Amino acid sequence: MKKYQFWFCTGSQDLYGEECLAHVAEHSKRMVEALNKSGNLPYEVVWKPTLITNALIRKTFNEANIDDNCAGVITWMHTFSPAKSWILGLKELRKPLLHFHTQFNREIPYDEIDMDFMNENQAAHGDREYGHIFTRLHMNRKVIMGYWDDAQVQKRIGTWQRTAVGVLESSHVRVMRIADNMRNVAVTEGDKVEAQIKFGWEVDAYPVNEINEAVDAVSEADTNALVDEYYDKYDILLEGRDEKEFRRHVAVQAQIELGFERFLTEMNYQAIVTHFGDLGGLKQLPGLAIQRLMEKGYGFGGEGDWKTAGMVRVMKIMTEGMEGAKGTSFMEDYTYNLVAGKEGILQAHMLEVCPSIADGKIAIKEQPLSMGDREDPARLVFTAKEGPAIATSLIDLGDRFRLIINNVDCKKTEKPMPKLPVATAFWTPQPNLQTGAEAWILAGGAHHTAFSYDLTAEQMGDWAAAMGIEAVYIDQDTTIRQFQNELMWNDLAFRR
Ligand code: MN
Repeated sequence: MKKYQFWFCTGSQDLYGEECLAHVAEHSKRMVEALNKSGNLPYEVVWKPTLITNALIRKTFNEANIDDNCAGVITWMHTFSPAKSWILGLKELRKPLLHFHTQFNREIPYDEIDMDFMNENQAAHGDREYGHIFTRLHMNRKVIMGYWDDAQVQKRIGTWQRTAVGVLESSHVRVMRIADNMRNVAVTEGDKVEAQIKFGWEVDAYPVNEINEAVDAVSEADTNALVDEYYDKYDILLEGRDEKEFRRHVAVQAQIELGFERFLTEMNYQAIVTHFGDLGGLKQLPGLAIQRLMEKGYGFGGEGDWKTAGMVRVMKIMTEGMEGAKGTSFMEDYTYNLVAGKEGILQAHMLEVCPSIADGKIAIKEQPLSMGDREDPARLVFTAKEGPAIATSLIDLGDRFRLIINNVDCKKTEKPMPKLPVATAFWTPQPNLQTGAEAWILAGGAHHTAFSYDLTAEQMGDWAAAMGIEAVYIDQDTTIRQFQNELMWNDLAFRR
């Protein structure tokens, strides 16, 4: 986890005298101290001298731009700061910005309040002037209102920090394509130039046999050491298979994991796509190997789906180092349960589901693939955790990208599925299966998703807004009539 910092910049002006400015600085220092001590923010906040002039605002924001450790700025108008003095600085700022609308004092001091107090504590006034200029400039920013010492407010700032890091680090995401998109499939296609313009992603192709050379170069000793680690860590489901043969198949995945990771590191890529129909010299479809790489933080998409691979990587970055994290994975909608009161979608993939979402035991299993022409691949099998989560789908509509964000409720399936040789999740989309699935299909959402228990729809929508793309939400408030109108209006809003 990179040690990012967020600059805390308080706005004021020199109209109220030195004593008032001294109070402003002291108050904001105390607030920064409280935020850092709270344990509610994943990244440190750094106090900056009060911004009172056009020149100082510009200078500070340009320093933020070139400081690699600065992931964003948090601004607050303690007093009044005429917003014209922010225009040039804001136009030059390239880091994510939070407008924290707060106030130093919690309660109005009824017995002592006078005009000096009013002039010193007028965020209700100053933050409105300041907020206006963003709207006038059509500038993206996050607004959070609330008392700075409240845990719930601090936690919101913390989740925004994660979004800001996702925004900043999106431009460091490099996706390695060792296979093209699956033939004839539409929804996994997309404009890679536009993806680089909007998200900063570099999406590059490599011949599969180039990465296979890196796999072949992994020594037997390294491979065997990793197989030992697997056998220590996971249950082995032999199910009548020959023990030696089973282990040999597992070793193929261990060798792929090591070879892939070395190649990705060497070439500086953080996400990868594969395709069961384009495996070159690889002996198996990477299953267990890809599952383990995803767990380490790599993005992944099946069948050449680089958009989902990029999203999984961004979401892994946003959840990095999170305490009590429940997991983030590539996922695919497979089969419905349509029994009344038990409705849901069984989620899985051919093999590649991230073990970070596993609940309880993880086992290694081998089964033939019905597709492709390789050895029976080893894979990790498990079921996923219960609880609320989000499923997202990034699609290319030809004239723009759209991010579809669905709140889902993950559950256990009613019964185990002993014959199913893949990891699974089971969820009911909000507001219910019928409306959720209808809205998803009307929005053009894919069968592949980037899924997480640890991020909120608000965070993903904020990320999309910062990228300048459309986001639509499917949740408890969704009705089909309203959703269809929203899609129609967005078509107009995004028309250029
Ligand atoms: Mn797939």
